[in-house]
Amino acid sequence: MDLFEKCQRYTKPKEAEAAGYYPYFIPIQSQAGPDVVVNGRRMIMLGSNNYLGLTQHPKVIEGAIRAVERYGTGCTGSRLMNGTFDLHLELESRLARFARKEAALVFTTGYQVNLGCISALVGRHDTVVIDKADHASIVDGCMLSHARVVRYKHNDMGDLERTLASVDRSHGVLVVVDGVFSMEGDLANLPEIVRLKREYGARLLVDEAHSVGVFGEGGRGTYEHFGLVDDVDLVVGTFSKSFASTGGYVAGEADVIYFIRHTARPFLFTAAIPPASAAAALAALDIIETEPERRAKLWENANKMKRWYDELGFRTGNSESPIIPLIVGEDVRLAQFWRRLFDLGVFTNAAVAPAVEPDRALIRTSCMATHTDEHLAAAIEVVQQAGKELGLI
Ligand code: PMP
Repeated sequence: MDLFEKCQRYTKPKEAEAAGYYPYFIPIQSQAGPDVVVNGRRMIMLGSNNYLGLTQHPKVIEGAIRAVERYGTGCTGSRLMNGTFDLHLELESRLARFARKEAALVFTTGYQVNLGCISALVGRHDTVVIDKADHASIVDGCMLSHARVVRYKHNDMGDLERTLASVDRSHGVLVVVDGVFSMEGDLANLPEIVRLKREYGARLLVDEAHSVGVFGEGGRGTYEHFGLVDDVDLVVGTFSKSFASTGGYVAGEADVIYFIRHTARPFLFTAAIPPASAAAALAALDIIETEPERRAKLWENANKMKRWYDELGFRTGNSESPIIPLIVGEDVRLAQFWRRLFDLGVFTNAAVAPAVEPDRALIRTSCMATHTDEHLAAAIEVVQQAGKELGLI
């Protein structure tokens, strides 16, 4: 049998493309701001993870340019060998202080942080316990670890407790959750998860990809928001969202970070984060630490959009963050809704299984601190019109 035969039979996306309902790989021709240019036309961006709008901040741009001028364009190797610049160490020490942990380690992408931490720490006889809605990078990290993996029902603390009570505790147990779930914008019940991980002697890693820069008085994430800075063992963040760059970090006890630094294959066997990306993240960190008004503006925008969606009668699930889903349910209707929003000038993300449960196809919308009142008012008018046309409201 020819291995490639399945590729010829892989026609579903092509059919969607031919029908004009293909929402992926759309080329943007401008900066990734609160509005973007697509096919020469300006659209309102409601589908970005650029929560604080820092990809356009002059200090972030300047930081990246300066780093290229000083260090060049790439590191040409692993952090272990020739790829560590003083810039990486500066970023790691600043992140450790920011995260209120003893040490931090920077990876080339956020995806690799989860892959690396889970596969380094959890061995064949250990168990990883994950929420069913955890991000794909966590699921893939579990597979790479060869450990026993147990998934509990999304945010169901009874199911988590039953799971923890039943696992083999003569070996190590790691619980891994998203602080903010990436598709529906709801929060992990961290106070209860912390109580349970203590009771059952497990360790806890919280992925703050969508919450760093957004939640907590200092923007540290949901673990700060819930007052659990000393209770979460490992905190993961990415640079691809509020940090306006690419890369990611883990922060925790010095011994644990030292161990990951020497054993995590997705850290060791890949090239270091490039200087421009590291410097952009460093500049973004300065802004996250010193300009809380950006976070306040993001929340003002998010609260306004959530209120409007709810008043119009959209299903927004349990969102408590700037990620607000418009739950449609069925894939074809979702594609039609996405297309109508697109034609009317609003860029959104269409999420179908396996990114969401099969009957919960949704439009994922997200706000930015740099959306103006005009952006949001124009966007909600479009969402209302398209929602009415499709009978969603
Ligand atoms: N964790 C979560 C919860 C995410 O949503 C993502 C990316 N969407 C990642 C990790 C991976 O991060 P990155 O895109 O920075 O590699």
